[in-house]
Amino acid sequence: MDELHNLHRPEDLRQAFRKYLKRHGIKHTVARRKILDAVLELHGHFEAEQALNLLHEHGHNVGKATVYRTLPLLVDCGILKQVRFEVKQAHYEHAFGEGPHDHMICRRCGRITEFASEDVLELCARIARRHHFHVTGHRFQFFGLCWECSIRCPVAALPLPSETEASHRHTRE
Ligand SMILES: [Zn+2]
Ligand SMILES: [Zn+2]
Repeated sequence: MDELHNLHRPEDLRQAFRKYLKRHGIKHTVARRKILDAVLELHGHFEAEQALNLLHEHGHNVGKATVYRTLPLLVDCGILKQVRFEVKQAHYEHAFGEGPHDHMICRRCGRITEFASEDVLELCARIARRHHFHVTGHRFQFFGLCWECSIRCPVAALPLPSETEASHRHTRE
């Protein structure tokens, strides 16, 4: 554990981000540095809002838009991984210090369950080999209902809130 941490000391990550910004002609502002520091303090899966709250707790007056714009840069830079890809519910996690794993996302309560599977890695490698494709990462996700939600409301029983909205809109028109 400590070994992994040593490989990704905050100084190294800060330097990597600084270089990344420079390479892309983006200004390395104090706000961006504070955002990186806040993100390094967060654990597990988190949203932009949590980074924003932490910044405010530390008394840093960083704008919401800046946080929302900076997190994708940290993904591109390789420091973060994006776990949920919906624009409004984007979730992130550290791209370092943890073994490779994939996610199951509950469509109803939003719970994210992690799993690690050798089978996924093998399948990925096998398909890539067949296509002579050099893989640097993969995105493999399950969407559905977590066990609690599936007990509370079986899949077919209730439409999703968004679907209900859509059908209402339809009948009104
Ligand atoms: Zn659920
Ligand atoms: Zn995860």
